[in-house]
Amino acid sequence: PQPAGVVESAAELAFEGALRPASFAEFVGQQKVRSQLDLLLRAAALQQRAPDHILLAGPPGLGKTTLALIVAEETGHPIRLTSGPALQHAGDLASVLSSLVPGEILFIDEIHRTARTAEEMLYLAMEDFRIDIMVGKGAGATSVPLELAPFTVVGATTRAGLLPTPLRDRFGFTAHLEFYADDELEKVVARAAGLLGLDVERAAIREIAKRSRGTPRIANRLLRRVRDVALVHDTPADLAAVQHALHVYDVDELGLDRLDRAVLEALIARFEGGPVGIRTLAVTVGEEAETVEAVVEPFLVRTGLIARTQRGRIATPAAYAHLGYARPGAATG
Ligand code: ATP
Repeated sequence: PQPAGVVESAAELAFEGALRPASFAEFVGQQKVRSQLDLLLRAAALQQRAPDHILLAGPPGLGKTTLALIVAEETGHPIRLTSGPALQHAGDLASVLSSLVPGEILFIDEIHRTARTAEEMLYLAMEDFRIDIMVGKGAGATSVPLELAPFTVVGATTRAGLLPTPLRDRFGFTAHLEFYADDELEKVVARAAGLLGLDVERAAIREIAKRSRGTPRIANRLLRRVRDVALVHDTPADLAAVQHALHVYDVDELGLDRLDRAVLEALIARFEGGPVGIRTLAVTVGEEAETVEAVVEPFLVRTGLIARTQRGRIATPAAYAHLGYARPGAATG
């Protein structure tokens, strides 16, 4: 399942698909990761071998799936999409692996959630392009080796730290995706508006970019909501339409949504600003620890509202100011 903060209706997915950049040239930002990937793919092409396995790490919506599709496009090989939660038995993985064609890209989303037995098969497959298949049952069971076509795993994870070391070691390259800067998100939104044939005011584009938590997926969705407002109220897609949409969907000046604010609020009001562990915090807001850790926390850290310490998370002075709380010990005027 997706983290709870991420709503994925069929319409949203179709919308995302339509806006997905199809090449490195169309892909905005992440300059460093793009050039690293580009180099890796070219080297492999020159040596006529399958590129090294690639791990893409970072919060949701920053373009991991998109990059995997681009890698396939650039290599000219087909891509198979699966996910950790879909690989619960070694047999699930064996049937995928044994049907790969030479050079195929195997995209495994949420790879940190792959079941242990499948994971062990994956180690061998990634290392030697070989798996052992168990035939028969009980005392008469034997393992039969099966050669695989050379392939490239592109794994995606919101939590690189959760991957067991032997799995992490089998990736020749790990890319850490960063939140996007406002000017990059402006490009994402302007591009999406163009593709959708929407006439969006410059100031509106800037505002959408500023309020999208550094995340292209959120920027594109917010654009869609702004289009709804303009359509329903028969107004231009301008700054007022953006503000209306942000208000309806409860997004504040920093781009924080309800869950982000609930976490901050709990940290300050229930735990006196911390330090508190992520699990306790998650329980307090009624959310899974994984969601708080992978979705909420990275952005709050990047905006300087919370800090990680040895003993847990603490609220910074900026968090008190943002939620309108007086800081304990701060002089009151
Ligand atoms: P998840 O881990 O939740 O699956 P993800 O990191 O795989 O998320 P994508 O599905 O690749 O994210 O991207 C979400 C949407 O954001 C895509 O549909 C795409 O339109 C847009 N997008 C992502 N990155 C970029 C980019 N660099 N330039 C333009 N659009 C982008």
